Amino acid sequence: MIPAPFEYIRVDSVESAVAALVEHGDEAKLLAGGHSLLPLMKLRLAFPTVVIDVGRLKELEYVRDGGDHLAVGALTRHAELARNDLLRAEAPLLAKAASLIGDPQVRHRGTLGGSLAHADPASDLPAVALTLGASFVALGPQGDRVIAGPDMFKGFLETDLEPDEMLTEIRIPKAGGRGWSYQKFTRRSMDWAVVAVAALTGGDAPAVGLVNMASLPLRAKATEAALASGASPAEAAALASDEAEPPSDLAGSADYRSHLARVLTRRALEEALSR
Ligand code: FAD
Repeated sequence: MIPAPFEYIRVDSVESAVAALVEHGDEAKLLAGGHSLLPLMKLRLAFPTVVIDVGRLKELEYVRDGGDHLAVGALTRHAELARNDLLRAEAPLLAKAASLIGDPQVRHRGTLGGSLAHADPASDLPAVALTLGASFVALGPQGDRVIAGPDMFKGFLETDLEPDEMLTEIRIPKAGGRGWSYQKFTRRSMDWAVVAVAALTGGDAPAVGLVNMASLPLRAKATEAALASGASPAEAAALASDEAEPPSDLAGSADYRSHLARVLTRRALEEALSR
């Protein structure tokens, strides 16, 4: 449980964080809340030789009204996502999912950007961001670029971010008038999801996201297409696991997860449509 030796650098701006990434390349890792990186380092599943601490960069802790979207700084903590009035009004799905992450300690340290950059398919926020149609702003040596939602997640713990890029902002289309639901199934309170389902109804098109149903966060496209063609929640939910490839582990077999995904999708759609 002792990490391999590493050099620790604390930076005082986003630009110096990117400069440090450029200087140290693949050897370096950003440290935000540390609640995913440090456990991996202690288990020696990750062994960066340089750790760049961005956790105190207050400039990236914000929720702002961007007109048709909310702009959320990458270092905004889960606890702030859960209680922020603007988010609760315009993206309640994200606020609710954040409130169900881990325990208070995890929610006060963990950051939105850290959760998205880590891209664990069992994490709540990557699938919720996909469901909300979020886009992602990354700062690299050439400046800012915006990554569209579907392009962000590439595989298990893998994103479109380059090693010398830092995720700085998440842009979330406003969804205040839409129906929504987040159904998280855990074995014990405060656990990671065995499976979770995010649903957004109304607006231009329904969206359904799946947590822990593949090696990356997923949208349930067959369910979404069925809903758009007028299927009932029960009919659409029956398709929820069609494109999934769920893992089998101590928390549940792949078959059990597929069953859960269908049940939770029906519940999520019924709740979203009733709001
Ligand atoms: P860190 O651990 O600091 O970083 C994670 C990775 O992202 C690292 O590779 C780091 O280099 C990279 N990174 C961080 N910030 C950036 C950035 N801005 N740009 C580019 N790369 C970046 N999560 C859930 O979703 N649901 C749960 O129920 C849940 N339960 C948990 C329970 C426990 C006991 C613990 C320890 C964690 C749990 N988590 C859960 C994970 C938690 O939400 C993490 O905080 C989160 O996944 C990672 O955020 P972080 O800020 O801690 O990132």
